[in-house]
Order: sequence, then structure tokens, then C-alpha cells
Amino acid sequence: MRIEQDLKLGFKDVMIRPKRSTLKSRSEVSLLRKFAFLHTGQQWEGVPIIAANMDTVGTFEMAKALGKEHMMTAIHKHYQKEDWAQFIKSVDPEILNYVAVSTGSGSADEAMVNTLMNEYDQLRFICVDVANGYSEHFVDFVKRMRDNHPDKIIMAGNVVTGEMVEELLLGGADIVKVGIGPGSVCTTRVKTGVGYPQLSAIIECADAAHGLAGQIIADGGCKVPGDVAKAFGGGADFVMMGGMFAGHDESGGEMVEIDGKKYRQFYGMSSKTAMDKHAGGVAEYRASEGKTVKIPYRGPVSATVQDLLGGIRSTCTYVGASRLKELTKRTTFIRVQEQHNTVFSD
Ligand code: 5GP
Repeated sequence: MRIEQDLKLGFKDVMIRPKRSTLKSRSEVSLLRKFAFLHTGQQWEGVPIIAANMDTVGTFEMAKALGKEHMMTAIHKHYQKEDWAQFIKSVDPEILNYVAVSTGSGSADEAMVNTLMNEYDQLRFICVDVANGYSEHFVDFVKRMRDNHPDKIIMAGNVVTGEMVEELLLGGADIVKVGIGPGSVCTTRVKTGVGYPQLSAIIECADAAHGLAGQIIADGGCKVPGDVAKAFGGGADFVMMGGMFAGHDESGGEMVEIDGKKYRQFYGMSSKTAMDKHAGGVAEYRASEGKTVKIPYRGPVSATVQDLLGGIRSTCTYVGASRLKELTKRTTFIRVQEQHNTVFSD
């Protein structure tokens, strides 16, 4: 047994220090980023925010809504081939620049992602997503994906430490997904005791990835737009969110009404609800590592997007970054023991 004594930080432990700036208005800030990817040499431009590949978030409807804003959606892996055919027929090819096809590391998922990628040349991103990115089997899977799809942009995760980021990038991933345990409907830390404070994971993993010309996605734990700004400030190239995009018209999830108030169901992909729905129940040897919650219905996602992007633009003006790309360089985090004033919160 060993103990690491270094302090590791979450979003709640810091604030961003304001800096002198020549920017007059947040309308002068651009949130578009252009990336070239490690293995494909392809370029992509967009707002680097991703709706998570959960079936109550990463839907085709979400992809249509976010794609219009140049934001990405990792489509959940439970659609059938026919659903994809219909979706692709119904959208402008431009939207497909902002779509990732998700897969686990099982053989059925692999067959499906191979079929989709071979059939639809316009699909550019594969998101290989497993709860524990530390297994050898997963690294082999990523290598195989790279061999089979040399021209596709591969996201892979989740991990939280630099050495594993490097291994995945060297194994064929272009972008590594970072986060174990911070998610809003995740119970991994409770069930297993495993995790890593998300802001430190971002800072350390971004450093490792950028050293090899790769990118990272900060995945999970953002509760408010300020957390998303802190993730970018810490070095995240992309930020992925589940809870912040849940509960909308586009989100999927059963709608329920209680005492005249509307709610939408939202659940973790390893929750009992998800496993009952997609895997015929929780297997005997495992525990569920996700929750099921009801969130007050939030209407169309466009209002949330405006609030989110407005917040990040404002962060940029506070530190004098005219482009999102400059935010990390201009970020000084201060450690704090308080966040916002909750006197009027319920
Ligand atoms: P959020 O933005 O809601 O805080 O976090 C979203 C992320 O939580 C997802 O992208 C995914 O990485 C993670 N996640 C989703 N479902 C589960 C689950 O059932 N268990 C765990 N441990 N993590 C989950």
C-alpha cells in the first residue's frame, strides 16, 4: 500500500482569477476551435462540447439540435441499423461532422460500429467507451479499431492518469476521455472507492496528451457552466456532459407527471434501469454503478445551450481570452474554501 500526499482538486476547490483585459464584450469571444488529430491528420472545427453517449442524453434529436450550434453529440450505442439509416437520410451531411458513433469493447458493439463506419463514409468519429479504461483488452480493442478505421477520429476512455493517456494515444486513439467517478448519476466512488478528483485528472491528462499532440475530453462532473469553463481552463480540449443536457425535449428518457409537474427520467448507463433495459438485468457478478433520477422537465435544449455558451464567453472576457483556445493560458486557479452564496437557494 502507498499513499500519494499531493493534493488533488475538483471543480469545487477552485475559482478562476480575473485578469486585465482589452475585450469590450463577450460577443467578441469565439468558442470555435480547430483541431488536427494525431492519427488521421484530419481537421475538425466546432464548439468542443459533447453530449454524452447515454440513452437519456445522446439521442439523434440532440444531435440535430446541438449540430446546428456546431456542438457534438456522442450517439448512444443502443440504436439499430435501421434507426441510423433513417437519421442519416433525414439530416444535412454537415450535421454528421458533429456526431460520434459509440461502442463498448464487446463483439456485438464492434460488429455494429464496423457496419456503420463502412456503410456511411460521412461518419467521422468513433467513441470507444468503457467504464474502466485500464484493461489490456480495452487497449487491444482501441488498436484494432485504429487498424480497421485508419481515417476515422477515435475517442477512447475513460482513464484519469497520464501514463494511460499516453498508452491509449500510442495505441491509436486521437482523443482520450478522462473521468472516473465524477458523473452526476455515477456511483462508482460509492460502490468501489475508486476515483480521481476531476480537475486534477484534467490538468494531468491534458499535459500528457498535449505532449504527444493528442487531445482529451473532460467527461463528467460539470454541474454548472462555471465548471465547464474550469474544465477548459484546466486544459480540456473537449468537455462532455450528461446531466446538464438531460431533461430536455431532445434528451429521451421517460416523461412522468407528479402533482401536475413534469419530470424526465435520467439514469447512468451502468444503473439497474439501463441494465434492465439493454442487458436483460444486472449480471450476478456485478453491482450497478449508476443511479436513476427524475429531473424537472427543462423544455428545448436551445435555452440551456445559450446559457452554457454565454457563461463560457463571459469567463473568457473576465480573463481576456478572445478565443476559447487562449483560455487555458490565461487561467490562474485560486484554491478556495467557498463557492457561490447559497443564502437564497432551496
Ligand atoms: P455528468 O455530466 O452527468 O456529470 O457525467 C456524464 C458522464 O458520466 C458520462 O459521460 C459517463 O462517462 C458517466 N456515466 C454515465 N453513466 C454512468 C454510470 O452508470 N456509472 C458511472 N460510473 N458513470 C456513468
